[in-house]
Amino acid sequence: MVELDQVTKTYSGGVTALHGVTLSIGYGEMVAIVGPSGSGKSTMLHLIGTLDRPSTGTIRIDGHDVARLSDRQLSALRARRIGFVFQQFHLAPAVTAVDNVADGLLYSGVPAGQRARRARAALTRVGLGDRLDHRPHELSGGERQRVAIARAVVGRPALLLADEPTGNLDSASGAGVMELLRDLHQTGTTIVIITHDRDIAASLPRQVAMRDGKVS
Ligand code: ADP
Repeated sequence: MVELDQVTKTYSGGVTALHGVTLSIGYGEMVAIVGPSGSGKSTMLHLIGTLDRPSTGTIRIDGHDVARLSDRQLSALRARRIGFVFQQFHLAPAVTAVDNVADGLLYSGVPAGQRARRARAALTRVGLGDRLDHRPHELSGGERQRVAIARAVVGRPALLLADEPTGNLDSASGAGVMELLRDLHQTGTTIVIITHDRDIAASLPRQVAMRDGKVS
């Protein structure tokens, strides 16, 4: 699903965040990315998510050499194959849970009539079938993150990338979110999670440790 070969990333300010990372993640794996702050975890997740391009090296996502794709092809790959979950939820504040999730299908070619129906199904799947018309401020942190996960998976991505998805949650809500991610893994989704939480990392089938921009 993911292959990084000798990938480096130097930002325009001159900071080199990744130094020759080689990493392979198979279809259906569930992987924790761990390491100290500043070790390059988010940079690597952004590159895997094709949100940014590497300075040197090769990245293949689902068999596609990312460097060979135009921006338009890259957007299509992202919209159809990859879902994102972030620590800060990133929900639209004025919009109901259903509409937040339906917006996750805007660029995937799903007809408008189907978007709301699939959004309702995704919210039901994350246990929020009774919160469909709530706006984010009417939901708890754990519920907001479940909306964000529903939005990330409504397009049925093969690859789900999560950057500290439990970072802003109390431990009970965090456990609920992890259970949801495990369920998705059970149904075949490849999942990559950055986490500072040692217990969460240890509970996942594979850990990738980063230090100073390298996989250690
Ligand atoms: P982590 O996620 O492990 O905390 P990051 O990938 O966020 O690490 O950061 C790795 C290094 O790259 C840090 O030194 C950070 O300051 C730098 N960095 C991250 N994003 C940018 C950016 N957009 N521009 C310049 N430097 C950045």
